[in-house]
Amino acid sequence: MLSGDRAGMHGLVVKRRSRIMTCLVVRAGGSRVFPHWKALFAELMPELEVREWDDPTLDPAHIDYALVWQPEPGRLAAMPNLRAILSVAAGVEHVVCDPSWSRSIPLIRMGEEQTRGQMADYVLWAVLSLLRDAPRWQAGQAAGQWVRRERAPLLSSDMQVGVMGLGSLGEVVARRLAAAGFGVLGWSRSEHRIDDVRCFWGESQRAAFVAECHVLVCLLPETEQTRGLITYELLGQLRQPSGLVNVARGPIVVEADLLRALEDGVLHGAVLDVFDHEPLPPESPLWHAPRVMITPHIASEASRPVRARQVVQTIRALERGEPVPLRYDPARGY
Ligand code: NDP
Repeated sequence: MLSGDRAGMHGLVVKRRSRIMTCLVVRAGGSRVFPHWKALFAELMPELEVREWDDPTLDPAHIDYALVWQPEPGRLAAMPNLRAILSVAAGVEHVVCDPSWSRSIPLIRMGEEQTRGQMADYVLWAVLSLLRDAPRWQAGQAAGQWVRRERAPLLSSDMQVGVMGLGSLGEVVARRLAAAGFGVLGWSRSEHRIDDVRCFWGESQRAAFVAECHVLVCLLPETEQTRGLITYELLGQLRQPSGLVNVARGPIVVEADLLRALEDGVLHGAVLDVFDHEPLPPESPLWHAPRVMITPHIASEASRPVRARQVVQTIRALERGEPVPLRYDPARGY
């Protein structure tokens, strides 16, 4: 990092190189877990100065990198020397919703092998649960009722699963489902080619994609284009028995439409990990909607040591001027 000025040989003012520590500010998990972050970074990158977000002695001009979850609007914009923002999560809507930060500063998403592996495990569990009517048996057990099914279950090979979003997570999920024997389709914005997955892309192919699926797995980012995309009408176009797995973000699904589809039987079952409001409020009708399984946004959450490692790799790459993966693109909106 450059700092300080001095008069050069020819009277010109030149920058004096004086090495000072690179500073990372952390807003991820609160002050209870900050000491853990600090210890992890001390081991992985001892030359990194790690400061807490709410430290009143911290000069915003001193900060080079910010590792964040839901930063208060305006705070990032008040850091004049910020070189990159690192999201502690794979989604970045919690940063992007603040209109004030400079879009020219790199914003990097979280996502490495552990995140992808956990997501593939979760989705496989969720799809198998829908295949074998787990939400129904769960409700029966809670009520102490022995209610057998009216229809024979489908086989995995008879079930067509559509993965919406074939990005860093969606592609791995699609491959895992295909390896488990499901018929797998995928839908994305641009063209993809994946072995054993029938790929569709763009708005013009969305209806054809949905019409072939029994179960939709949502792994889209939350953007202006995807918010409110999954409606009652769209759910009504699925093949029966139909299901939804939402592991992306709550606002992509119109919650009132989802409830209606479950109540009138248009949708046979759902596994939901994400919601409009988190934690899901106690008064939410989703808790008691028929044939729904709810998990508290745990589908995929890399451990703190794994995330710290990715942060260090990213900072080192950025310091060397190298391109880094998982960079938010303001033009695409994800
Ligand atoms: P990526 O950005 O890597 O992939 C996004 C995919 O969505 C791409 O295939 C992209 O298409 C596609 N896409 C985006 N916009 C559209 C659109 N308008 N129409 C069609 N396709 C579109 O994201 P990740 O795979 O890393 O993550 C996906 C989401 O998963 C995250 O945004 C996050 O919200 C959620 N997540 C949830 C977790 C949980 O625990 N529940 C954990 C981690 C992530 P293209 O390939 O053409 O660009």
